Amino acid sequence: MTERMRLVCASANPDKVAEIAAILGDAVELLPRPADVPDVVEDAGSLEGNARLKAIAISAAAGLPAVADDTGLEVDALDGAPGVDAALYAGAGCSYADNREKLLRELGDTDDRSARFRTVTLVRWPDGRELAVDGVCPGTITREERGPGGFGYDAVFAPAEGDGRTFGEMTHDEKHAISHRGRAFRNLLVALNDLPR
Ligand code: IMP
Repeated sequence: MTERMRLVCASANPDKVAEIAAILGDAVELLPRPADVPDVVEDAGSLEGNARLKAIAISAAAGLPAVADDTGLEVDALDGAPGVDAALYAGAGCSYADNREKLLRELGDTDDRSARFRTVTLVRWPDGRELAVDGVCPGTITREERGPGGFGYDAVFAPAEGDGRTFGEMTHDEKHAISHRGRAFRNLLVALNDLPR
């Protein structure tokens, strides 16, 4: 990657776009997705499949390479749930808080709280070429919500490489340094740099 690469961000979620822009920094110019593209139905059944569906739709509409990501939360005591269904764990139209409440309810007071976030990041070019990498962040599900920051499950997830705080109690920079999304997008930068020029 000799010059600043331009990638259209397939996500319309402002929480995620802000995180991605912060992680990619100056190396990539992140362009907003075209406003008139309808939301993609994420029904591929896998993180990579869902990321591909989103990246194809946006790169086709924009005529530029697009980057999409998809994240799942795998909780061991729940046989990997919510997994790829993390966004709608508590049902259609649910909020982040509904999902956190359901997760804590399902786990009850079980002692096995091990879990991991997994993000797949995929760049798709209009000619069909693509590049996919992932990033994993192991940790535990807390017994109660902690911290006002972040989004999604941040207030109930304490990363293993942290100091016991949840993502919701960390600054953005602290989270990005060890998070699944931070890792996936840093891996993506390395892979983009390794592409033949
Ligand atoms: P998405 O595929 O990135 O949209 O993520 C699916 C769902 O996982 C989101 O709706 C959030 O509930 C959750 N999620 C994704 N990334 C994070 C994160 O960094 N922290 C907490 N929850 C997340």
